[in-house]
Amino acid sequence: MRKIIKNIIKKIFYPLYIRYRIIIDTLNVLAKKQEKIDAVIDALNAIAKKQEKIDTVVDTLNTLAIKQEKIDTVIDSYSYILNLLEFEDNLINRENIIKDTTSKDVFVPLKHYNSQFSSIIKLSTKVRLEACSICQLRCTGCNMFEDEFFGKGYLKIQDFEKFILDNNFIKHIELSNKGEIFLNPDLIHIIKHAFENNVLLYADNGVNFNNVSEEMLDALVKYQFRSIGVSIHGSSQESYSRYMVNGNFDSVIKNIKKLNTNKKKYNSAFPKLSWRYVLMEETEKEEDILRAKELARELDMRIDFGLTFVKGFDPKNPEMLSRETGLNILVKEEQEKEDIKHKKHYFGDVCLQIWKEPTINWDGRLLGCCIGHTKSDFGINVFKIGLKEAINSENYIHAKKMLLGKVDGPGVIKNIRCTNCSVYKDMKKEGLFIK
Ligand code: SF4
Ligand code: SF4
Repeated sequence: MRKIIKNIIKKIFYPLYIRYRIIIDTLNVLAKKQEKIDAVIDALNAIAKKQEKIDTVVDTLNTLAIKQEKIDTVIDSYSYILNLLEFEDNLINRENIIKDTTSKDVFVPLKHYNSQFSSIIKLSTKVRLEACSICQLRCTGCNMFEDEFFGKGYLKIQDFEKFILDNNFIKHIELSNKGEIFLNPDLIHIIKHAFENNVLLYADNGVNFNNVSEEMLDALVKYQFRSIGVSIHGSSQESYSRYMVNGNFDSVIKNIKKLNTNKKKYNSAFPKLSWRYVLMEETEKEEDILRAKELARELDMRIDFGLTFVKGFDPKNPEMLSRETGLNILVKEEQEKEDIKHKKHYFGDVCLQIWKEPTINWDGRLLGCCIGHTKSDFGINVFKIGLKEAINSENYIHAKKMLLGKVDGPGVIKNIRCTNCSVYKDMKKEGLFIK
């Protein structure tokens, strides 16, 4: 604990040392008495109550917030403190801390200044942790199997156990990212371990569900896997295999039916299932869409229609597609234009993962987001240093500032994944930073 206190002093409060001796005293007392949380709150309140003007680094957090100056420092300080609180004690009520330590005078202007602040202070208890980067299909347009950057491998049970132990504030994990999670031979152990440690698992990013063993279909229900998005682009073997090359439509449907039988057997609502259907040349026929909707109903699945990332799709019957799918916009190019109108980048929501659900590769490399537009990472292995250290690293914090448009670029800081990402480059060019 002393190390943590030292870190607080060093990373946040050191610039205030001379002016706010009270904070150091409080933290010292705290270190001795092991009453760290209350003392930190007191220290924060002490800062928040000060209304003096600043001449060197920062004045008080609330004065700065109200004046909308040095907001990055303020946000970093709050963010770091709240991270520590979250990591240190799961019993504390974060909402109360936020309420206690940030008076309305402080919180409202901060929130107004930077809408991301609310997601920053609500430190995410969710991550994306890739369970497997291998896939047995060869979908048209998917370049995963050629992509060397993520490596071909799977999350090992030992790494997962260590991750859960080291980062016990994480309560939700999305396992699917670039490959097929059901090809991970450790997956049943992972699901069981998560269940026993009250961590909820999701595969909403997508699975192809072609090869799922009976044992796995049982474990998914028994260990209450929360939700699965099954990518089924097409609604018959013929239409499905036009895009999902090597895939077997009948096997997927059979697996879903077995899972539903298990849900009845265990009288369980989980996992919730959704059908992901991307509109593209191979899947746009009316008969395919109508059959998919009907089948989804029969299988008790929500159906989510989406746009293809591939440019150049020219729908043959846009009226029918909009009517049947509920989508007003059917092609990526139009969506991009619409987003620009609203001063938003098409992939802006993906960048938000950096705050809301940091992405970690199957081998522990910190990616921040799930996108593959850049072939670099943050040079940090979460399995080695833990998530707390990882997301508080200088380069990760700097990446956030870049995405918010608060700094002009990486400067001298190395290993920032966003630096060479086409999304960031577009954002910078068009001024479409995260708001
Ligand atoms: S199922 Fe997903 S990961 Fe596998 S080839 Fe198709 S798009 Fe790529
Ligand atoms: S800029 Fe690129 S690498 Fe950075 S968060 Fe956004 S999508 Fe991910």
